[in-house]
Amino acid sequence: MRLNMHTHSVYCDGKDTPEEMIGTAIQKGFSILGFSGHGYSPYDTCSMNEANTARYIEAINTLKERYRNEITIYLGIEQDSTCRIPSKDPYDFVIGSVHFLEKDGKYRPIDFSRDELIAILEEWYEGDFLHLAQDYYQEVARQGQFEEVDIIGHLDLLTKYNEDESFVSFSSPAYLKLVEACIASIGTDKIYEVNTGAIARGYRRTPYPHRTILDILHAFGGKLMLNSDCHNRKDLDCGFEEALRLIKDCGFDCLYILKDGDYVPVSIDAFH
Ligand SMILES: [Zn+2]
Ligand SMILES: [Zn+2]
Repeated sequence: MRLNMHTHSVYCDGKDTPEEMIGTAIQKGFSILGFSGHGYSPYDTCSMNEANTARYIEAINTLKERYRNEITIYLGIEQDSTCRIPSKDPYDFVIGSVHFLEKDGKYRPIDFSRDELIAILEEWYEGDFLHLAQDYYQEVARQGQFEEVDIIGHLDLLTKYNEDESFVSFSSPAYLKLVEACIASIGTDKIYEVNTGAIARGYRRTPYPHRTILDILHAFGGKLMLNSDCHNRKDLDCGFEEALRLIKDCGFDCLYILKDGDYVPVSIDAFH
């Protein structure tokens, strides 16, 4: 079993066409490929406007039919917490992600660059990372209540530049308490993704969420799905081997896949 439900194509900020990505997915032995273009957000220059969203929907639906005997294609969207999609109807699935924090009506991205994160931290939080993390996880928890959201995207994206733990220790009890409250509030109906996107781009050596958070998710009975959040077809399965090892190590024995409109568990041993 190989799948990826978090991928970006030329319709938003990805490098390849959906058809090129499908070709590579088939070559790599994927049975499921989901597209998750950035849903429109006025603050996000990578997101798809209304006209582009319509073209994206049409293109993926056409490819779904064209390749139906070779691979299952799903049409999804990555919705930022700042801007909900007008309707879930066209989509097979929705990933909910928090990329921005808001203060006094101003929105700033936490994942744009290390310098921007530091600027937000200094200008909005007087350098107090736990305070920033509190606002971030509250926003993740808020989005986790949106009924259209199926999958919680890159749960701890705010640690994109924290590989060296210079912002926070991944095992800080105060930090993990914020994460735990967030997970408790979202519950276990949604799927949490393990996302290897930052590995492909060289920011992190391990996937989101960090191991310490995977342990919390395991204790809560959280359901996981493995995605690469790739912006490039060569990264469709980037970091999957290490991620599978980590997920098993944390005690999970299955991963969830989308099948006939439901999220169903598949033994982790079936994945490679
Ligand atoms: Zn994202
Ligand atoms: Zn993404």
